[in-house]
Amino acid sequence: MKFRIRTKLLLTYLFLIFLALSILTLAILGPLQNFYIKHVEAELIKNARLVSRIIEPHLLDGNYQQIDKTVKELGEQIASRITVIKNNGEVLGETHKSISLMENHADRPEFKTALEGQIGTATRFSTTLDTTHLYVALPFKNQGEIDAVIRLSLPILGIQETYALLRETLFIGGLLATLIALLLSFWLARTFTKPIEEISKTANKISNGDLEQKVFITSNDELALLGQSINNMTASLKTQFNEITTSKQRLEAILSHMASGVIVIDNIGLIQSVNPQAESIFGIKEKKVIGRPYHRVIRNFNLLENIDQVMNRQNHYPTSYEFSILHPEKHTLKAYAAPVVYKDKIEQVVIVFHDITTLRQLEKMKTDFVANASHELRTPVASIKGFSETLLDGALEDKDVAQRFVNIIDKEAERLGVLINDLLDLSCIETKSLAIEKAPTDIKKLLRESVDYLENQAQEKGVEVSVEVTEQLPKILANKEMLSSAFINLIDNGIKYTPQGGTIKIGAFKEQEHILIRFTDTGVGIPKEDLSRIFERFFRVDRARTQEIKGTGLGLSIVKHIIEQHQGYINVQSEVGNGSKFTITLPLI
Ligand code: ADP
Repeated sequence: MKFRIRTKLLLTYLFLIFLALSILTLAILGPLQNFYIKHVEAELIKNARLVSRIIEPHLLDGNYQQIDKTVKELGEQIASRITVIKNNGEVLGETHKSISLMENHADRPEFKTALEGQIGTATRFSTTLDTTHLYVALPFKNQGEIDAVIRLSLPILGIQETYALLRETLFIGGLLATLIALLLSFWLARTFTKPIEEISKTANKISNGDLEQKVFITSNDELALLGQSINNMTASLKTQFNEITTSKQRLEAILSHMASGVIVIDNIGLIQSVNPQAESIFGIKEKKVIGRPYHRVIRNFNLLENIDQVMNRQNHYPTSYEFSILHPEKHTLKAYAAPVVYKDKIEQVVIVFHDITTLRQLEKMKTDFVANASHELRTPVASIKGFSETLLDGALEDKDVAQRFVNIIDKEAERLGVLINDLLDLSCIETKSLAIEKAPTDIKKLLRESVDYLENQAQEKGVEVSVEVTEQLPKILANKEMLSSAFINLIDNGIKYTPQGGTIKIGAFKEQEHILIRFTDTGVGIPKEDLSRIFERFFRVDRARTQEIKGTGLGLSIVKHIIEQHQGYINVQSEVGNGSKFTITLPLI
């Protein structure tokens, strides 16, 4: 059973009051009773001596009749029972009864004591008077001999009544005192426990996280000190809490905004946190995987082995490991698993994933580019070499053959020239990437100039090129030469890949904060599976299909670079046999 402090205090107070009252009652009642009896005894002795004096002459004369008469008169006056007893026990005088009816009193203890010369006292039930009496017996001496005994008595009833009254008064007084003490102690207990309850309530709120709570104790005692200590503790907790929250928020901000994925595992292998980047790499949701074993979430066997190694190793070194995943998307990742060690024990393992997909793609593109470029350069060079060798070996003699071979050598050299120019353009655009000069450019004018430049080519092919630009198209900041080169490339492609009789429509208009430039042709179109690759270097759709069409596969790559350097982007929509639509979006500023 649990007692509140208030109840405990109350019970203690009650017990103390009860104890004090009991001791007080015992301490008062006992001695008081004794004192009272002694007092009555003394009174009786005094009166007995008086009676003894008064009846002395009658005793000496042996006038017993007179003794009884005097005794009866005196008894009324002093309101006590008087008995005069001869030394043989015979009653000579009695206040309350006729002496002829009185039995011999020789056996009475007070009488016996008086006969020994002392004052005899006794408390006893009187058969004569039917009540308990206090007896005092005085010896009466005649010539040195005890001749008679003067006995006075009072009913003890008076004493007992007084005693009972006293007890009753004490009891009522005690009850009243208890009641007052109870009220007082209740008030005291309340006054004492109220601040404790206040402190306890506030401490509870603080422990529930409300650090704005304060203890207000107005007294000037230990409780006020305790309250002050709690307030100090809360203030220091608040500071520490704020510091922890700030660093936690900082850490969370870093984790959620960093480009790398991060997964934190605790020392028993349960996932503690997953940042957004890791969520998207592995296609998981932090909420769903927190608290789950990492073996159930990370499915890459080699990576798991790597993490296991870090968790079980004694030397606490980080490890790194490169691997690829296919789901939810193909990614090449480099994982660094590092243990967080506290007091020589691994507390957590932090795994950082760097997405190196683009890096590896770029590396591949670089090697592919070198391979492709060498291949593209080798073909015309080999052809030139072959035909020139044949010429040197004697074909020069045959004028017709020589003429045909030289024409081929000329075309291959031209192809080589175009290729080298494209490569130079590409490299030039890439190296210039940071600082290209831009000026306000009139797109409509630039488009017309580009179309004019290719007019002959279009006429030769029998393709109609038209430009439709909304009036008042705002000028944009651009590098005129580069943008013109991109337009020429796109129109040139349109002419190349559109059969005779087809059309190329060029349109430009403003949409919100952008300018959209569209090149729509009615050409051969591009297969769906190649749409994403046509902007790659050297990529050409179905070489067999376009073999007779001259091209390096670098044109669209150059266009894409130019547009991107103008903070724009290009996309394509096309269907085989239904033409293609290239859209350039450029920002207005
Ligand atoms: P190329 O020098 O071969 O034209 P590009 O980079 O300009 O190289 O184009 C890449 C490939 O995209 C071309 O080989 C061609 O197959 C396809 N292509 C580009 N423009 C068009 C178009 N307007 N219509 C159909 N196919 C096109």
